[in-house]
Amino acid sequence: MLNLLKHPLLTHKLTILRRRETSTKVFRETLDEIAGLMAYEITRDLPVKNITIETPLGSCDTQELAMDVVLVPVLRAGLGMVDGISNLISSARIGHIGMYRDHETLKPMTYYSKFPDNLPSAVVMVLDPMLATGGSSSDAIQVLKDNGAKTIKLVCVVGAPEGVNRIMRDHPDVQIYLAGIDEKLNENGYIVPGLGDAGDRLFGTK
Ligand code: URA
Repeated sequence: MLNLLKHPLLTHKLTILRRRETSTKVFRETLDEIAGLMAYEITRDLPVKNITIETPLGSCDTQELAMDVVLVPVLRAGLGMVDGISNLISSARIGHIGMYRDHETLKPMTYYSKFPDNLPSAVVMVLDPMLATGGSSSDAIQVLKDNGAKTIKLVCVVGAPEGVNRIMRDHPDVQIYLAGIDEKLNENGYIVPGLGDAGDRLFGTK
């Protein structure tokens, strides 16, 4: 299911990411901020459990998160969303998955994966700023399922209808979160108008 997150701060910060003249430094800071803002909404349905703790003044019946959270950035652009979320969920463990897009076939290939051992009992957030064709996200989700993940949320910033439809078709059990949905993909698989190549803009490689 698609969850299009709407908030004036998200919209404002997404505009900063989209601007051609935004520097690498500001792009990196803003992507992290967006990820943090999105995390606030994405975690709204996380289960909590009742606990009793001691405050300096006495005993207090309260609650804490009842499920582990695992963040899985899709290398490399997904790395730009990790700090913004892990700053809010300090107990989150972090896996990694590396995919590259074959420039001729546009098909995603997995070259690296490493996950913590609590995938089956955790809420797993797959992080990738751009949901373009949906091919790499769909493959990353499948790899996580093959490794035991049961509750998966796909957290992207900008998506194209093609990518959203692909994930809904391949993984109807996965919740998709976006801050913006754009018109289409161009002939190279880039989102238009989008924000360009998120990895290049994040790491200053172009
Ligand atoms: N990946 C990107 O970084 N940008 C796009 O527009 C599509 C895929």
